[in-house]
Amino acid sequence: MYMSIFKEKDYWLSAGLFLLFAAYQIFAIWEYYSRQFADEAPHRVVQMIVNSVGGEFYAAVFLQILFIVFVHLLVATIAYILWNNFPSERLNKSRIYFVVYILGVILLSVLWNRILFPASLSFEASDLLLVQTQSMNVFYVLNIAYIVFFVVAFSSFVFNKVRMLRPRNKRVYVMLAAFFAVVLLIDARTNQLDATPVGGNGAPNIILIGVDSLRLDHLAYYGFKKGLTPNIDGFLEQAAVFDDTLTPIARTFPAWMSIFSGKYPVSHGARFNLYPEEEVEKSALLPAILQQLNYSTYYVTDEVRFANFTKDYGFDVLSAPKMGVLDFTFGMSLDFVYLNLLSRIKQLSALFPYTYANRAAKTIYYPNSFNDRITETINDIETAPFFMVVHHCLPHWPFFNHIDPDITETVIKKYTGTSSASSQYLNTLYLVDKQVGDLLHELKEKGALKNSIVILLSDHGESFAINNDMLIAEDDAPIPVGVGHGTFALSSVQHQVLLGMQRYKDGEAIWSAGKRKNEASLIDIMPTLVNTLSLDTKGYDGISLLPYLENESLASDFRLRFTESGLTSGSVETNNPDEAKLFKEYSKFYQITENNLVSLKPQHLNQLLKTKQRAAIKNGKGLMFRRSEQGAQWLLADYQAETVKEIDNPELFDETTKYLKAQLCEAYKIDVDFYIRVCDQS
Ligand SMILES: [Zn+2]
Repeated sequence: MYMSIFKEKDYWLSAGLFLLFAAYQIFAIWEYYSRQFADEAPHRVVQMIVNSVGGEFYAAVFLQILFIVFVHLLVATIAYILWNNFPSERLNKSRIYFVVYILGVILLSVLWNRILFPASLSFEASDLLLVQTQSMNVFYVLNIAYIVFFVVAFSSFVFNKVRMLRPRNKRVYVMLAAFFAVVLLIDARTNQLDATPVGGNGAPNIILIGVDSLRLDHLAYYGFKKGLTPNIDGFLEQAAVFDDTLTPIARTFPAWMSIFSGKYPVSHGARFNLYPEEEVEKSALLPAILQQLNYSTYYVTDEVRFANFTKDYGFDVLSAPKMGVLDFTFGMSLDFVYLNLLSRIKQLSALFPYTYANRAAKTIYYPNSFNDRITETINDIETAPFFMVVHHCLPHWPFFNHIDPDITETVIKKYTGTSSASSQYLNTLYLVDKQVGDLLHELKEKGALKNSIVILLSDHGESFAINNDMLIAEDDAPIPVGVGHGTFALSSVQHQVLLGMQRYKDGEAIWSAGKRKNEASLIDIMPTLVNTLSLDTKGYDGISLLPYLENESLASDFRLRFTESGLTSGSVETNNPDEAKLFKEYSKFYQITENNLVSLKPQHLNQLLKTKQRAAIKNGKGLMFRRSEQGAQWLLADYQAETVKEIDNPELFDETTKYLKAQLCEAYKIDVDFYIRVCDQS
């Protein structure tokens, strides 16, 4: 029976139709990206990939296509077997009906893909079918018809098999039963939270929860309307919150390096995203220090395009999409109806290393998959103490525009008048908040919070050039102040970050909840943690915040803090940058390393560092130096007045600017070009 189907013409008809379906999708994706990259840049990128990973790239593409063909043949086979097993007296089984049946299966799959992955590029035009007045009713009827058909066909198939098998071999039943038992066991294991408590009485578990690109003014805790981020707000209500915390750089990788090192980018060496590994100081980072203290260390994230944290940074376990150059290519392009549908099944996640729980695959990202990945990682923790970093990248550009109708009804609608990028952003905040809520809930269930330090933070904000995002130029000449993040070193909305902390002992919160007025920076996290663990706090650029955590009324003097920009250019400086343009502009700066990771080319670093903006900020004033096409420029920001103006010479302008310039020069001495041209008076 099994072999005989390959002799059936109808089987090959079914296989042919599904393979055509697959071929069309491959063609459509190819066409889409050719249109997107309608110049030589994609060529250069593909060339670059092929040059460095060579045959591996072709092999990977070949394997993916093989997989796509396999999945479509599998569906074709199942569809054929069911058709064939439908009791024939009840159905006219002529070929024309068979073709209609197969086309119906394909149509239904396309519609389900559209509903479960509204942003999917696969068969976008099927939207037109779904928006007709009666379309949802037709969709329901189609579903019911097919479900009835499948149930009848499947029962008849099983019934036939049972009759065939019964007289021959009883071992088949034992094997079948054993198979289902194993499947159920695996399922139960992945579904249920492992009960091993990891509270302990020794050193506390340390949990860093990061939310990328989080704007403080969009949280109810900071005065936004309630309902968008209830879980984040709920944690903050119970935590010690440093109201005025800056990130030294508003870009993911260098910002996290500052968190893990307690140092400014000039000290830890990572000055841009995807910085060459050999330039980065990887010894004595927080995870590695905790490893030495017998912590097990975990890093979990749903986006690895901007920051490549590997085990070399001190993590025992990395739970993330597959890192590297193939993530860039496959993460963006593996948008196929059946692959999408199957990728929602967490037990199959291993088959989708580039798209499962991967924010980079923005058209088909499914937020619950990331929760499943986190749950799995938490389940695997067996001993205390542990250190866990969970970095949520949903709010990061490119904005995930899979807008849940629920949210549109209840939340987004309330906020009219926002540009499309910022309403997509609101949607991502709603979704990421659910993820954070689930994470906290699961840690609690596991008993992991009993003896722990939990830090909720963001690596940087996000500017949409709306509302109060702008500093106003004092004179008539407008000064572009940057949108996105990492584009303007004086921007508050890009550099102000969330920092809420709580220490639990025997399940009780011991730091008094409430705002701390002391100025802080992400570089303070590491010294604070080592202080809590009674280790030496010397050797960091940051300071320990422990005294302020333990005593909420402890005052401090105004503090000098530094910020710098990432790579900036015309393509980044818009509300919702065009990925293709970015590729075109930047691809020449990148290379692929021996271990297939993407990194900046070392030979371009000096040139790129010349474009960096550097700022010193103290007591409500910020002084920044930048070099643009218009030449060198000093800008002075007044944060109380929300103004910015150009000044000629900080040394002559006033005492504050003179002081800030001297400090800036001292801090950035290591940037030779900057120091010699701007600071060196000798
Ligand atoms: Zn980030």
